[in-house]
Amino acid sequence: MDISIVVPLYNEAESLPSLHEWIEKVMIDNNFTYEIIFVNDGSTDDSWKVIEEISKKDNNVHGIKFRRNYGKSPALYCGFKQAEGDVVITMDADLQDSPDEIPELYRMITEDGYDLVSGYKQKRYDPLSKTIPTKLFNATARKVSGIKNLHDFNCGLKAYRREVVKNIEVYGEMHRYIPYLAKNAGFDKIGEKVVHHQARKFGKTKFGGLNRFFNGYLDLLSLWFLNSFGLKPMHVFGFLGTLMFIIGFIAVLVVGGIKLVAICQGVPAPLVTNSPYFYIALTMMILGTQLFVAGFLGELISRNAEGRNDYKIEKVL
Ligand code: UDP
Ligand code: MG
Repeated sequence: MDISIVVPLYNEAESLPSLHEWIEKVMIDNNFTYEIIFVNDGSTDDSWKVIEEISKKDNNVHGIKFRRNYGKSPALYCGFKQAEGDVVITMDADLQDSPDEIPELYRMITEDGYDLVSGYKQKRYDPLSKTIPTKLFNATARKVSGIKNLHDFNCGLKAYRREVVKNIEVYGEMHRYIPYLAKNAGFDKIGEKVVHHQARKFGKTKFGGLNRFFNGYLDLLSLWFLNSFGLKPMHVFGFLGTLMFIIGFIAVLVVGGIKLVAICQGVPAPLVTNSPYFYIALTMMILGTQLFVAGFLGELISRNAEGRNDYKIEKVL
């Protein structure tokens, strides 16, 4: 099979019939063998009924129905698990992404050799409250992930070589960072294609509000930490702990030294608690010990983690 199209959706009943028709037209025009996997993420409207009807008429259409709303990442995860096509395309269900982009995305994966091609909504039809924070977010993600050529990490329209989706685990709200997940799994030929974007016709965005940015940054931090130190937590905590401990130890020497000098000179020695170095010594040594303990705990946890020897092997002879 050439293409699997994975569509996560939450309350998009009005858009689904036209989306299906449009995809079908593009697939037939280009002679692709394909499947469409609609993942109904606990919709409370008629979305599932619509999917059932479409799949009755069209054998290429499959559906997965969640019992409740879990989020876009879990929906993608389940779609990816089921996908069988050589190239896997994800797109949003709200008709903001155009299926006309699919043939070129497919070509970039199969002929240009990309592992992942992300859409880039250069001209966006979203409110400013969405586009400005997005710019900031992408700049940070580029820096942290080291994928310098991506402008739009969170574009719903993306194409993957099948191995990529089988080797990454999208969870929580990590759909924003799939290129970074792919890179961490060893797929580093990541490209970008400018894609058309349209304003939402039906319903409204499911990702409003500012806390998504706060959470987005925390997720980015977690990914960065996992990738850098996930397998060797002691390296970061041990280093910081040692550093703190050394600073604390120097402060102890200073406190002791002041006392000693006073004694040698025969003047009344000041109380150690009068010296700022005393407090520095105290906090630094406590912090240092705690960081060490955190490191050891991290090591114990990673030693027992299920995926501790889960390496991505490309080929064996
Ligand atoms: N979506 C989902 N589960 C959710 C929220 C959203 O499957 O909990 C789907 C949604 O139906 C759409 C896609 O994710 O197909 C992108 O959502 P949306 O269009 O609201 O995001 P925006 O384009 O505003 O960033
Ligand atoms: Mg949308």
